[in-house]
Amino acid sequence: MKTNNQGRYSAKACRVSTPRATVTPRSSAAPGAAAPRQGSAPRLAATRSACTRAEAARPATVQPASSYPRHIRSTQTSAVAGSAPLKAVLAAFAGVALLAGLAYGYFTFWRSVPVMVNGEEVRARIHSSVEDVLKGNNYFDVKLGRLFSVGGNVLKEDGGERCSVTLGEGERAAPLEPSKFAETEVAEGDVLAVSDGVDVTEPYVEAAEPIAPGLQMEAGGAIQYVKQWGRAGKQGVWTGEQSGEVVDKGFIEEPQDLIIGSKNAQPSGSKKYMALTFDDGPSQYTQAILDILAQKGAKATFFNLGTSAGGSPALVKAVVDGGHELASHTNAHKNLSTVGADELRAEISTAFDALQNASGVRPQMIRALYGAFTATEWAGSGDLVSCNVLWNIDALDWKLPGPGVITETVLKKAFNGAIALMHDGGGNRQQNIEALPGIIDGLHDAGCGLVTVSELMRLDGTFPEDVVKGTVKMPEDAAMSAV
Ligand SMILES: [Zn+2]
Repeated sequence: MKTNNQGRYSAKACRVSTPRATVTPRSSAAPGAAAPRQGSAPRLAATRSACTRAEAARPATVQPASSYPRHIRSTQTSAVAGSAPLKAVLAAFAGVALLAGLAYGYFTFWRSVPVMVNGEEVRARIHSSVEDVLKGNNYFDVKLGRLFSVGGNVLKEDGGERCSVTLGEGERAAPLEPSKFAETEVAEGDVLAVSDGVDVTEPYVEAAEPIAPGLQMEAGGAIQYVKQWGRAGKQGVWTGEQSGEVVDKGFIEEPQDLIIGSKNAQPSGSKKYMALTFDDGPSQYTQAILDILAQKGAKATFFNLGTSAGGSPALVKAVVDGGHELASHTNAHKNLSTVGADELRAEISTAFDALQNASGVRPQMIRALYGAFTATEWAGSGDLVSCNVLWNIDALDWKLPGPGVITETVLKKAFNGAIALMHDGGGNRQQNIEALPGIIDGLHDAGCGLVTVSELMRLDGTFPEDVVKGTVKMPEDAAMSAV
């Protein structure tokens, strides 16, 4: 204890053993609030005053027990005197508490509760999991799910899900994932439906393999061209981790077919147009043919051989300079449908190179021998050509039937948009030179203009612009077919 500067024991230290009175200072009372209980403040003041006086007369030592307030002393006395009855009371209280605890534990942790499973009541200890209920009832004897390989073979008869569980009833019934069986507690009155286990498939690795586009070829026209570029697809392939089986799971992304269009040019308008074409040149007959065309005001298309063009570049240049169309008939007159993949591309590219070297113009148009440019050739070299040009009228000039017959053959079969096949090389073409003036005059008389194949396509108006112009370029995201 400390003394204050007046040498007296502090009122604060004394109040430790004094019941504290609640005092509301007058100054803090709200206006109109009830006045403090009569005598409260004076009683505290009196206690403090008495204490101060009593302690002022005592030395600064610890108070003896006898100096404790009367009511504390009396309590201690009675506790010592009544210890035996108190023990009995405490023992009884402990007994009751134990029973209450056991009852609480039973009610909370051990009692069994009714659960309805497949329409029948089942008892389950409260807080049991769905897994506990299933195991405790031998999974209600439902059929086990099996484990299948990715290929559909049974790997293990009991390797699937053990059973299926639906929790709730009516519209609120919801399937419970097997992974939740152990963590889902059943509650009193829960309704469960337990049915056969579900078959599962073994774990697998999924890979996406590219699929080359297919190829569709339209038929019926004299001009073949890429109508739609092919796009690669993706195919899902599953490899079973246990079985090792590899299974094709179908398209992840469907490929887009390469479509080769095939149609005749049909120039619109009242005027008719046709295209005369000459194969197998250039040759010693080419210049005479060019002269007749110039004289008659007609344009034609020349399908030259690369090898021949290399030997007579001036004639190739004369074709272009005359306003005619220069195109390829392969490099060395090879049947493209009989050569290998590399030779196919080489035959086409080398011929274009030779024609470009001779004329300064690089064509993209071809006429395959016999017109034979099949799906295989399109798949193997469709990115190199703008179109493959067949014919509607075969002049059969190679049979050397005589100029009159050649002229008659062409004129008889003429129609708007037709392409006529003739030759300026590959043999004696004298009959063609003699037949040509009559062919041109006859067609002009019939109101039919003679233009190049590209011009025929332009006049048609429905061919793709890059095909007409010979500037076809395969898009970067396109893919060639694997035909
Ligand atoms: Zn030929």
